[in-house]
Amino acid sequence: MEVARLNACVDLPISDDEVVVDSMLGWLVRWLRILGVRVTYNPSFDDYYLLNVGHVLVTKDRELFRRRTKLSLLLITSGHVEWLSILSLVLGFPLVLNMERSLCPICGSRLIKVSKDLVIDKVPQGVLLRHSEFWLCTGCGKVYWVGSHHARMGKELEIARGIQGALSTQCINGNLLVIRE
Ligand SMILES: [Zn+2]
Repeated sequence: MEVARLNACVDLPISDDEVVVDSMLGWLVRWLRILGVRVTYNPSFDDYYLLNVGHVLVTKDRELFRRRTKLSLLLITSGHVEWLSILSLVLGFPLVLNMERSLCPICGSRLIKVSKDLVIDKVPQGVLLRHSEFWLCTGCGKVYWVGSHHARMGKELEIARGIQGALSTQCINGNLLVIRE
């Protein structure tokens, strides 16, 4: 079953330090940033920008994909976790949580580790009591910590790694098809 397609038969992973993610894929954007991938995203991108931007474009829009001449990835499956497996294969980042590498899922800026007293008035009391490590976004100022959601995310990544093991590629008519066995 074909789950995604690149519009060129290139060697994977591709070497781009940033991707542009099409509108409506906000879930994917947040995950990619958490996994340390630099993403340009705007829910109201215009067509001209999307057609011409130089970085790899990730989209679910077949018409846009057909018109693009620059490198683009079309997501065919609608399985969200499958998207992570595909993007990891294409961009070469590991499917593991590492706060040292994470970017802010909201704004994409770098996170820096800060001491508890710097976030004392920014997080709930209970969180302060239970946690000792905090990260602060250098862009929007949001504070992050390793909470219960990390366990859930770890499980999703485990599933994504399993799916990735079942992915292969095939070059057909100048397109690189990503196939799930
Ligand atoms: Zn931020």
